[in-house]
Amino acid sequence: MEDGHCREEDRPQEECGLFGIYGEGEDVSRLTYFGLFQLQHRGQESAGIAVSDGRTFQAHKQMGLVSQVFDEEILQGLCGKIAVGHVRYSTTGSSILRNAQPIVAESPYGPIAVAHNGNLVNTADLRVEMEARGIRFHATSDSEIIAKMIAYYHRGDIEQAVIETMRRVQGAYSLLVLTQRELIGVRDAYGIRPLSLGRLNNHHYVLASETCALDIVSAKLIRDIEPGEMVMIDERGPRFRQAIPKVRDAMCMFEFIYFARPDSYLYGKLLYTVRHRMGQQLAIEHPVEADVVIGVPDTAIPAAIGYAKQAGIPYDEGFIKNRYIHRTFIQPDQRQRDLGVRMKLTPLPETVAGKRVVVVDDSIVRCTTTGSRVRVLREAGAKEVHVRVSSPPIKYPCFYGIDMADQKDLIAARLTVDEIRDYIQADSLGYLSKEGLVKAVQIEEGRFCFACFDGYYPIEIPDDVKQSKFCLESERVDVPAEHLKVLAGVRR
Ligand code: SF4
Repeated sequence: MEDGHCREEDRPQEECGLFGIYGEGEDVSRLTYFGLFQLQHRGQESAGIAVSDGRTFQAHKQMGLVSQVFDEEILQGLCGKIAVGHVRYSTTGSSILRNAQPIVAESPYGPIAVAHNGNLVNTADLRVEMEARGIRFHATSDSEIIAKMIAYYHRGDIEQAVIETMRRVQGAYSLLVLTQRELIGVRDAYGIRPLSLGRLNNHHYVLASETCALDIVSAKLIRDIEPGEMVMIDERGPRFRQAIPKVRDAMCMFEFIYFARPDSYLYGKLLYTVRHRMGQQLAIEHPVEADVVIGVPDTAIPAAIGYAKQAGIPYDEGFIKNRYIHRTFIQPDQRQRDLGVRMKLTPLPETVAGKRVVVVDDSIVRCTTTGSRVRVLREAGAKEVHVRVSSPPIKYPCFYGIDMADQKDLIAARLTVDEIRDYIQADSLGYLSKEGLVKAVQIEEGRFCFACFDGYYPIEIPDDVKQSKFCLESERVDVPAEHLKVLAGVRR
């Protein structure tokens, strides 16, 4: 929570999106602008582009959406043949301009610009160490530490400087590094955050967090960058090397469930199809007699359609979304929280009145909006409201770049599924099982991070960092007594 606002929705928030291009003769800043536009869902707080023409370096970054940060004049001023762009949502470091990216750092061999997606877990140690070496920091993010480390280790061989930095940093990172003459992309040894390489016009190359950003500039996907791998792109084209040993694949499962756009491919799978199968599996695991299936928020629609198809229940639009509201202010009481939901989502009585409604969501984090949606549907005349979630209960915090709250704020860490059902006053509640999730994804379980569901963190979390989020005290969430009783007669 920042700046007096609460996050837009009760869902995990992605940290960042990356886009980079090497293309002599291309309008690289404009193509980067289009790429960032496609990645806007990965971060809405700031945006930036850095460009090199082979000698000079220019950068522009500001708080705001991509469309607010750049205009024609700014894009025309960013001339060059190599560019990196970044959209940011802060999890480490506050939402201020000096934390916006790409971060430009001076090395003895010229400036570099770094764009980072992920989160380090040894930031404090690295900062102390680098400060002892005389490095000064102006921002409060782990990304600045990465940029300054690369600049510090740059002794004329940028690849070696990046490798040295990768050996020192621990945590989740996909990085783009721009120098005056080259573009470098790397992923951490577990490949927690995605990064894909594409080809444009046969001989130009693009790196992006998601394949949907390749599509928008008409680049063809070549392949994903492997965990621990580096791709270095210059006038000779791309060269690959294993910068640090790969430990194992541990892609964030939430990229599949919710973060990445449904028209993106991860591990070669189209996410729309994967989410559709999640909904189908959810219907197999948690069937219910109902008249209509709706999906809310929009990201849950593929799963809702899958649920409806599997269950043989019609899918329909249950809410009309107000597209002009992005955030609501903190609402002090339940009535105002309900009002906040109504401002964003207006129920369609024609769809829900007198009906048994299945509402498919893709995740419940703090559970600040689910109950309001159930109430709004009942007030619109729904006879029954059955909530289905296309992911398992989130019980553990994320340390790898996803903002989803401390453990004490995660509803599923504090309440059983039955208690959550009572808390949101639904007629029934069902979560997709971890086994069902793996079945729907159709990729081996061992290639994912599931830590927020099962607590097994693929990258070790230092104790001091763990304590900062693992503060689940013994007391339990207060569920108002009337909530626990109100549905006693109708529960299935
Ligand atoms: S803990 Fe959860 S949100 Fe974080 S990287 Fe792992 S799967 Fe993704």
